[in-house]
Amino acid sequence: MNALAMIDGVGRTFGTGRQAVVALHDATGTINSEDRIALVGRSGSGKSTLIWLLAGLDSPTRGTVTWPALGHPRGDPFLVGTVFQALSLVPTLTAIENVALPLVLHDVRRDEAHDAAMSALDLVGLAGVARQLPDELSGGQSQRVAVARVLACHPRLILADEPTGRIDHDAARGVLDALWAAADEVSAGLVVASHDPLVYERFPQRWRIRDGRVSVDGAPQ
Ligand code: ADP
Ligand code: MG
Repeated sequence: MNALAMIDGVGRTFGTGRQAVVALHDATGTINSEDRIALVGRSGSGKSTLIWLLAGLDSPTRGTVTWPALGHPRGDPFLVGTVFQALSLVPTLTAIENVALPLVLHDVRRDEAHDAAMSALDLVGLAGVARQLPDELSGGQSQRVAVARVLACHPRLILADEPTGRIDHDAARGVLDALWAAADEVSAGLVVASHDPLVYERFPQRWRIRDGRVSVDGAPQ
């Protein structure tokens, strides 16, 4: 099986000299398409740094990040889809318009984009709010719309950075269900970064990160 993403001896340092912050030390690991990985660690441990590197939105200062099955995703939503902690919907667009937006921006025909957006909203249980504006949605619903927006592009790898950070427990469960269903639907790999115990209880694979050092289920990789 071709790996979706591989990190090998990856380090990321921000700044130089006395200001330097080592956010990630020598991290090694592989993500395959069936993987369901929780990236767990406290605030400041390096989770977001690793998610950005895996998304191809940042480059390591040491080691390599490669995507053997994907080429160079670098922000391509058809290869890697990312859900962030901050609610990220365009406030003047309805839920379905938000979900269709990346497709429309990538020249998918409007009727096709609309159909793909509706299917994605349906899969996350939100077909009923397709015409509502983000203001009219709860935090959990907004995050599920963000999951649908990722799903509509059928990415091969889905990353989520603290997707349940700003919502209550029940809503968090709904967002995790939506991420899981989305990954299953398109046979994508899934990595969810979180410090929420709900997330790591739920996932079969766990990458723990502590002060920028990654280990798998407690064992250094
Ligand atoms: P987490 O997502 O687990 O909270 P981060 O990856 O955001 O952790 O941060 C890891 C460390 O790197 C922290 O000490 C943080 O302050 C530092 N850091 C992250 N991004 C930057 C940046 N752009 N410039 C300087 N330091 C940064
Ligand atoms: Mg973070």
